[in-house]
Amino acid sequence: MNEYDSNRISDLMASIEYKKVNEVESADCFIFNTCHIREKATQKVYSDIGKIKKIFKDKKQKPIFVLAGCVAQAESSMVFEKSDFVDIVVGPQAYHKLPSLIKNYNSNNNKILNTDLDVSNKFDSLENYKNLTSKVSSFITIQEGCDKFCKFCVVPYTRGPEFSRDPEQIVNEISNLVNNGTREITLLGQNVSGYNNKGINLAKLINQIATIKSLKRIRFTTSHPNDFDEELIGLFNYQEKLMPQLHLPVQSGSNKILNLMNRKHTREFYLELIDKFKNARNDIQFSSDFIIGYPGETDKDFEETLDLIDKVKFSNSFSFIYSQRPGTPAVDYIQISKEIAQNRLEILQNKLFDLQIKHNESKINKENKVLLENLTSKGDQFFGRNEYMQPVFVEGSEYVPGDEINVTIYSCNKNNLFGLAKN
Ligand code: SAH
Ligand code: SF4
Repeated sequence: MNEYDSNRISDLMASIEYKKVNEVESADCFIFNTCHIREKATQKVYSDIGKIKKIFKDKKQKPIFVLAGCVAQAESSMVFEKSDFVDIVVGPQAYHKLPSLIKNYNSNNNKILNTDLDVSNKFDSLENYKNLTSKVSSFITIQEGCDKFCKFCVVPYTRGPEFSRDPEQIVNEISNLVNNGTREITLLGQNVSGYNNKGINLAKLINQIATIKSLKRIRFTTSHPNDFDEELIGLFNYQEKLMPQLHLPVQSGSNKILNLMNRKHTREFYLELIDKFKNARNDIQFSSDFIIGYPGETDKDFEETLDLIDKVKFSNSFSFIYSQRPGTPAVDYIQISKEIAQNRLEILQNKLFDLQIKHNESKINKENKVLLENLTSKGDQFFGRNEYMQPVFVEGSEYVPGDEINVTIYSCNKNNLFGLAKN
């Protein structure tokens, strides 16, 4: 979602004649779009601001420095105390105001803080700025915020309450992206499967989007397991543009931990849901997110997570050690040792890695439908992705980005597949 937001910030800045530069020294303005989900990402922000400050130490003109995103939202005016180099702080729901804030900014003025959480206003103003993305595979935010309050998570505080964008606005933006070359769209939201705007739910929205002729593929992420109904599950059975790969974070395989996290579902519920998707489309694959070392996690709880992974056989996943986030309930719980958490993470990641390799190997000598994104720098191969989002390198230079071709895979490594186009 930050990638989508950053692209939109670029579109906004183009409207006041700012353009991207590649050399740090030549910038008149810096905008850092930040993530607060784990502590590491937040810490990095201040060390990176320090690096920019150092570069401009002896220069006459100080660049305007904007801190945007979720760190800005969470730390608010504290940002100015932590770094005097920052001039403007805008939260993720207020960045549409950047053109006027920057245009009117005068270094003699006071610092500017805007952390309004008015999402509807943001998307209404963004509608006036064309989305200039021209990638074969593009993102679009359709839903933001969260009302679920898992006890480890900052999202409800940084992105605000759940909000679903107007469907017409979404279809228009995607049509524009498709006219610019997009052939695959990923619908984004912190709880995207809970999308609902005036009775248009995610299933209905996807069917509307699928009518855009030159759009070939649709994906959505991230979903909470509790937000699926039969209509949305059934879509995998008949909507051919919807890809057979679903990111479905489970966080833990232990009911005790799921309860302590306030996830509001059990492992049994999750496994039944997986079966429902498989009944709708038997070749569907799943990926997930895991939090390891959450307060209260015992060896037995961890074993249950490993067991769940064995049952679902995720094709790839993200896994993190639990990170204490200020302002969330779990921050005050008794923490488990870093060493134990690290040890468990390694065991879990090895297991996930084995599954990923097996998934890659399972494609060898098989035909894969690959959507080509770009010619590689050497100019003799195309990069693309199959229906499961696996990166594929295809020999040959005679294609056009956006072509979807049949490719036979002849080898793979841990991350990539290598293939030849079928004539
Ligand atoms: N809405 C999605 C997740 C969005 S946050 C869901 O409910 O599953 C993206 C991922 O960041 C989460 O799935 C979780 O695995 C991770 N995450 C969030 N807070 C975290 C924390 N405090 N420590 C470690 N990982 C965290
Ligand atoms: Fe965070 Fe997702 Fe839980 Fe919402 S549902 S609080 S975004 S982990």
